[in-house]
Amino acid sequence: MTADHRFGTAQVHAGYDPAANLDSVTPVIYSNAAFWLENSQRGHAVANGDTPGFLYSRVANPTVGFLEKRIAELDGAKEAVAFASGMAAINAALLNAAEGGGRIIAPYDIYGGTFDLLRTLLPQFGVTTTFVRDINDPAEVEAQIGDDVKAIFAESVSNPTTVVTDVDALAAIAHRHNVPLIIDNTLPTPYLYRPLEHGADIVVYSTTKALSGHGNAIGGVVTSGDSFDWANGRYPQFTTPEFILGEAAGRAPRSFVEAAGPLAFIRRIRLKYLRLGGAVLGSFEAYLQLIGLETLGERVSKETASAAAVAAFLARQTHVRKVNYSALSGDPQHELVARDFPSGIGSVLSFELEGGAEQTAAFINHVRLFSYLANIGDARSLIVDPANTTHREFTPEAREIAGVTPTTIRLSIGLEDPDDLIADLTQAFAATYGA
Ligand SMILES: *Cc1c(COP(=O)(O)O)cnc(C)c1O
Repeated sequence: MTADHRFGTAQVHAGYDPAANLDSVTPVIYSNAAFWLENSQRGHAVANGDTPGFLYSRVANPTVGFLEKRIAELDGAKEAVAFASGMAAINAALLNAAEGGGRIIAPYDIYGGTFDLLRTLLPQFGVTTTFVRDINDPAEVEAQIGDDVKAIFAESVSNPTTVVTDVDALAAIAHRHNVPLIIDNTLPTPYLYRPLEHGADIVVYSTTKALSGHGNAIGGVVTSGDSFDWANGRYPQFTTPEFILGEAAGRAPRSFVEAAGPLAFIRRIRLKYLRLGGAVLGSFEAYLQLIGLETLGERVSKETASAAAVAAFLARQTHVRKVNYSALSGDPQHELVARDFPSGIGSVLSFELEGGAEQTAAFINHVRLFSYLANIGDARSLIVDPANTTHREFTPEAREIAGVTPTTIRLSIGLEDPDDLIADLTQAFAATYGA
C-alpha cells in the first residue's frame, strides 16, 4: 500500500499489508504480551531500535501499529501513537509539552474530562491553565501568552455547542510565540477536517467516538506533523540527552531532538508516556477500531447530513429556544464553517428547550429511538443532558461560559433513517408540552 491513496481507499487499506500477515486481508489480532527475539544479536538490535521488530506490547504491538499507521495516513500526519483512551492521549500530549511546569491556554468550551484535568489535576504537577472565553479572539489569546506558556489547546469543533475553532488563525498566534498548537479533533474526525493541514502541530482523538463509530471500544490517539521546532529553547525535555537513546544503546549521549528531529514529540510520547505511563491500547480494541475505520467516511457523511436535517427541524420548533449547530445557515460562524468544513461539522448538536429541568427530564424520558447515554459518534442516535452527565465537572461559571445550561440537550446522530429520528423528536415534543 502506498501512502498517497485517497481517503476512502486509505480507510480500508492504509497501514496493513496482507502479504506480511499470512495473507489475512482483515487485520490480524496479535494478542501476545512479548515477542520472540530469536538470538542475542537480534534481541540487542531490536531492543536498540537498529532492526525493525517488536519486544513487548506495552511499547509497541503490531495490531495497534496498523491502527496508528492508518490513522496517521487519514490525518495527514507523520506518525501516530495510540493510547487506551482519549483522556490518556490528551493527558500524555499536554504533559509531554508542559511537564516540568508551565501554563496552557485553552477555552472553557471543551470536553468535561479535559476541563477537569486542566483545572484540578495538572496543577498538582505544576501545569496550570489560563481559560479564555473566546478562543477565536486573537487579542484575548495573545494577551495571555508569556514565557511560561507551553501549549495552546482547543477543540476543532466543541462539544456540545459545536463552536468551531479557526485553527489557521490560532496556529499563527501560537507559532509567533514559539508555542505548539494541540487540537482535539474528535468531533469532526479526519474525514471532515484535518487540523495539521491548518497549522496545528499535534492532534488528539478519542477513537471511542466517531472514528471507530460503534460505541464498542475505548481508545485514543495522538498524531504529529513535523514542522514544530522542539529545540527552540522552551522545551528542555526534548534537548536533554536521554540514557535510553544514547548510552543504553551503546552510543554517544543523544536527546530526542538529536534522535528524531521534528518527530521528537511523538517519539518521546511513546517512549515516556506510553511505555512508562502504561495506558496502552489492547490489540482487540485496536482491531475493533480498524474495522470501524473502514466505514468512517460513509458513516460520518450520512450522520452529518442527518444531523443537519435534525438541526433544521429543531430550529423550526416553538419549544426550542436555541439550536447549537454552527453549520446551520444564519449561525454567526457560518462563514468560517463554509471555509473550513465544506462537508459539514459532524454528527453532534445541542439545543435549549423551553422551560426548566422538569421539561428536560420529560423530553429525555419521552424519546424512544434515541438512547439516553453519555457517548457520541455511535451508529445509533444518542441523547444526553450535559449539565447532569458529561459536563458535571464544570463549575457553574465555566458551564455558563461554555454554553451548557440545565435545559441543554445534546444529540449524537447515528445511522437511522433521519425521518424516523425526526418523528421520534416530534412525538417527544408533543408528549412533553402537549400537542
Ligand atoms: C470523549 C471525548 C474525550 C475523551 O475520550 P475517552 O475515549 O472517553 O477517554 C476527549 N475529547 C472529546 C472531544 C471527547 O468527546
